[in-house]
Amino acid sequence: MSLRKCAVCGEIAIARLPNSKLFLCADHFKEYVERRVLRTIERYRMIERGNRILVAVSGGKDSATMLAILKRLRDALAVEITALHINLGIPNYSDKSEETTRRLTQKLAVPLVVVKVEDLIGMSVPQLARKAGRPVCSACGLVKRYLLNAAALEGGFDKVALGHTLNDMSAYILKTFLTQDLSSTEKLGPYTETIEGVAVSRIRPLYETSELETLLYANFSGLPFVGEKCPHASPSTLEAELKRFMAALNERYRGIEISLVRRIAKSGKATQVESAAKLCKSCGLISNADLCSYCKITATCTGEPKGSFTRRFLRDLLRLEV
Ligand code: SF4
Ligand code: ZN
Ligand code: ZN
Repeated sequence: MSLRKCAVCGEIAIARLPNSKLFLCADHFKEYVERRVLRTIERYRMIERGNRILVAVSGGKDSATMLAILKRLRDALAVEITALHINLGIPNYSDKSEETTRRLTQKLAVPLVVVKVEDLIGMSVPQLARKAGRPVCSACGLVKRYLLNAAALEGGFDKVALGHTLNDMSAYILKTFLTQDLSSTEKLGPYTETIEGVAVSRIRPLYETSELETLLYANFSGLPFVGEKCPHASPSTLEAELKRFMAALNERYRGIEISLVRRIAKSGKATQVESAAKLCKSCGLISNADLCSYCKITATCTGEPKGSFTRRFLRDLLRLEV
């Protein structure tokens, strides 16, 4: 059998372009993914020159790829980047994720800030979830959203970059349709707007990049990343099922995932931050009730709302480290 050749340089090819018959060598595949991310950033005007960007890095392949590409594009985009890792305190997983993130940021020479949930609320995310009687992933999502926003505000960042891929976004979008949770569709665009002083703009540079592409990019670049999934990630959630469904659909109807996310982005509604206009009475950040979800869950589980303490802690930490 004859070996496939790279469509650009003629060297031996090792990857096929998604939705195409073209094959590429490792270097040209990486170039292709970088161009794709740059085009996504430009298409949705996610970043302005001079922006300070806080990049959420979990230790997985998607955020590792996002960080590596943002680092490569840093000078061309004229931005400053800092990585933020949140140690969730999940046994046999979080410490490994933190250690992998440290190796990644060292390799890429990107400054890193690590926040341990236990230092902020005196317990891990699984313990918090148990005490609150909530599913671990729901408590985890709530804590991560709050900490990313608070860290960006306290550190004076202009944007928070999230590693959500095309596959994540198409599954989330489909889920909001199926469950008729249409107000959530507004949060599933490529970015959300800043609300001065209370909510920092979130951007999704991998909005049009698939997980297969991030996996190959991370492997071809020798990026350290944690291969196994979080022990709380279940393959039988609706989201996980929808991801598999969309992937299968995309095989038969090429490009359907991209069309879906682009339509949501185009709808214009997708760029708006939460519909809430309220501010948390305890910590002063954005909320849809008197107390934000973070202050509420920490008050229930620790006896006091931890938002204000968390904001001060992050301010000191980010001043010291950045
Ligand atoms: Fe958090 Fe659930 Fe994701 Fe694990 S699978 S990192 S608990 S949201
Ligand atoms: Zn090539
Ligand atoms: Zn609060």
